[in-house]
Amino acid sequence: MSKTFLAIGESMVEMAPTGDGAFAMGFAGDTLNTAWYARKCLPSSWNVGYYTAVGRDQVSAQMLDFLKRSEIETDQIRLLEERTVGLYMIQLKDGERSFAYWRSQSAARCLAADPEHLTAALDNAGLIYFSGITLAILPAEDRETFLESLRAARMAGAKVAFDPNLRPRLWESADAMRTCVTEAAGVCDLVMPSFEDELAHFGDQTPKVSADRYLAAGAQMVVVKNGPEEVICASGEGQSSFQPNPVHNIVDTTAAGDSFNAAFLAEFLTTGNLAASVDAGAKLAGTVIQHRGALVDCMAPA
Ligand code: ADP
Repeated sequence: MSKTFLAIGESMVEMAPTGDGAFAMGFAGDTLNTAWYARKCLPSSWNVGYYTAVGRDQVSAQMLDFLKRSEIETDQIRLLEERTVGLYMIQLKDGERSFAYWRSQSAARCLAADPEHLTAALDNAGLIYFSGITLAILPAEDRETFLESLRAARMAGAKVAFDPNLRPRLWESADAMRTCVTEAAGVCDLVMPSFEDELAHFGDQTPKVSADRYLAAGAQMVVVKNGPEEVICASGEGQSSFQPNPVHNIVDTTAAGDSFNAAFLAEFLTTGNLAASVDAGAKLAGTVIQHRGALVDCMAPA
């Protein structure tokens, strides 16, 4: 298996309030978060890359710089003349955060518009990671191209992991989201949903129902996260559950699932040990939620 972990999706400019009326610029996005943590968790014998599309302007160059400084490879990223990266702003009112997005014309929406470019990017990957947000931002006609490329990569030996990350507001309809996410699960070795989302948008009554639904869709294995509750792992061989250690002093749950996925996958790719993988995922997520922000530098580089 090739030792390249390739995450695919949209990285955005983040403008976060600094408390004095000003905003600090950063970069974030669910799949970027997972790539960033995967780089910290995987040994140096693994490459971690990110695939997306960005512009040729200064802010896009700054994003690429950020990725490179984070030791995430950017060689495959599409560069588009006419577009730039998406942006979101975090606003605070009475301690509550709200988000405003400018992403409808973002370059990342074109990440599957050139099938040859996409296929070439996937060519060398050992593990391909994407999310429901990756699918949501694509024009409907590109989603099929994207899934077809994943099927081909898998036939060529890559493993595919997917977090459904259900965000109905990004989709043309909730039905389109459910249909596409279900089809995507069918091309995956590993589906990693969060039960809260599955309950809200598929109406699953228990994590086991979510696991069974994704197995029936064709996933080889399903790992259902559920906040502080048990993590359920299910495959054709049966089901097991693991209780994460309790976490006190929770400050910010941003990127809990993204960081869990990274540490889980890093352990699973290197040892294949399921219990150790859940433990690694829960340990990292448990640390991340005790800090503010998505990208928490809470471990020594690999
Ligand atoms: P998401 O951020 O995608 O909604 P979850 O909330 O299900 O994901 O959390 C992902 C993982 O983070 C959980 O499986 C668990 O390991 C850890 N986690 C999240 N919230 C808590 C919590 N309150 N206590 C302990 N662990 C937590």
